[in-house]
Amino acid sequence: MKKAGDLLTYFFDQKTLSSMYTSSKLFSAWPSIAAKHKIAAAETHTRVVEFDRRVLLIEAEHPGWIQILQLKQAELVREFQSRFPELDIVGISFRLSRTPFTPSIQTPTPTSRPAPPEPLVEENTANLSDKERFDRSMKRLEQSIITREQARARGDFNKEPPKERWVKLHHEDPTPLNASTWTELKHCMLCPRHCGVNRTAGERGYCGESATLRLASAGIHKGEEPPITGTRGSGTIFVSGCNLGCTFCQNYQISHEAMGRAVDIPEFVAICLNLQNQGAENINIVTGTHAIPALVAGLKQARTEGLVIPTLWNSSAYESLEALSLLNDVIDVYLPDLKTLDTNLAARFFNAPDYPEYATKAILRMLDTRTLKTAPNSTLTSGVIIRHLVLPGYLEATRATLRWFAEQCKGRALISIMTQYTPPKNTNTQLKDAPKHFMNKQEYETVLGWLEEFGIEDGFYQELAPDSDWLPDFTRYNPFSSTLATAVWHC
Ligand code: SF4
Repeated sequence: MKKAGDLLTYFFDQKTLSSMYTSSKLFSAWPSIAAKHKIAAAETHTRVVEFDRRVLLIEAEHPGWIQILQLKQAELVREFQSRFPELDIVGISFRLSRTPFTPSIQTPTPTSRPAPPEPLVEENTANLSDKERFDRSMKRLEQSIITREQARARGDFNKEPPKERWVKLHHEDPTPLNASTWTELKHCMLCPRHCGVNRTAGERGYCGESATLRLASAGIHKGEEPPITGTRGSGTIFVSGCNLGCTFCQNYQISHEAMGRAVDIPEFVAICLNLQNQGAENINIVTGTHAIPALVAGLKQARTEGLVIPTLWNSSAYESLEALSLLNDVIDVYLPDLKTLDTNLAARFFNAPDYPEYATKAILRMLDTRTLKTAPNSTLTSGVIIRHLVLPGYLEATRATLRWFAEQCKGRALISIMTQYTPPKNTNTQLKDAPKHFMNKQEYETVLGWLEEFGIEDGFYQELAPDSDWLPDFTRYNPFSSTLATAVWHC
């Protein structure tokens, strides 16, 4: 009888066999590497699942763990390289697990009450070194993830939130921008990521931003939908950072690479008034979900200093209803994306399997608060335009999205079908799953056919333009072509 080792040698040559043994050591080394780099808890929430084309793939059961590992990505790569030089490892990529890991958190019995949360103690971090501050930040992030997982295990996320937390709609927003709003950023739960980091102390969550408002660019843009662009153009303000972080983001420089500069309220007001003075039809805030408190304060101040044009909220829709309620007093038109209703795509491309749930609820709330109204020049003064970017190769997801629009929103909102998907040029290994081709004519006609099938008539779709000429470059003072936009401010 042959031994197991002999059998393996029979099927594989010596080189392949040695590589298999090394790979198996690679997977089992993860707990000790995590412990060495002070993320021992990662052992139970993450795992090395694949080694392909010299890139390690680590799977996590929660987006927050991906965030933690990304913070240490460079040192982890170096550690793997030094332990396994023969594998010639070039990088690590991360993905969210589709199935829960073996539960490591005990679910309390129905009669037990959850322990009260630790009181938030204001930390004095002024005298700490960068490393100490980083370690504390990691600890808080880990704790917030564990707290959230415990809440999930208790089923808290399936319960209706207490009614008194909701701000009534169709009336002046009673939620003042006061200290308590800012206090939320001391344990940030502003968006569905629920990072729990202290942004007022300079900590950064998934969005990459502290409590300070940072902007990348502002200008008058003529490429938005006709009721947004009007005749004079839309006054776009690009906010730095992003709480969703699509892998194929066209504004990658500001959403992923932190381009931008801090602005205070007077400078924000000046930018808004400058856009108005230069003829903008409206103020169009792009991707500001993670900066809602500062933006609300800025827009309120701008109103008192002479801003009269409509304000637009141009977002991914990955937003909580509580955060949206803060906007009720300052935003006239909503321009949310509805990227997908497919939880697998949302997990793969945005690390947010709960995107469909949050986005659909957010959009329905927007529809409840803003009916479609236009000015005499046909620009929107109130209402909702829902944008859907078609992902080439994933047309069934578009069909499901259009069906949902037809059933839930038709007659109450306009649709905007975007066909400008551009394969990312960034070589980051996390982008390897993103579609690699422009939308083709056949896909385009299929989507237009579905608009007809679902009887969707109110809205817009882009002409098919399979090139990347329109792509912004935010390193330039005017990130767009001069025919498309005029810049009025740059970081
Ligand atoms: S706004 Fe930023 S820090 Fe706050 S929960 Fe969302 S991603 Fe996390």
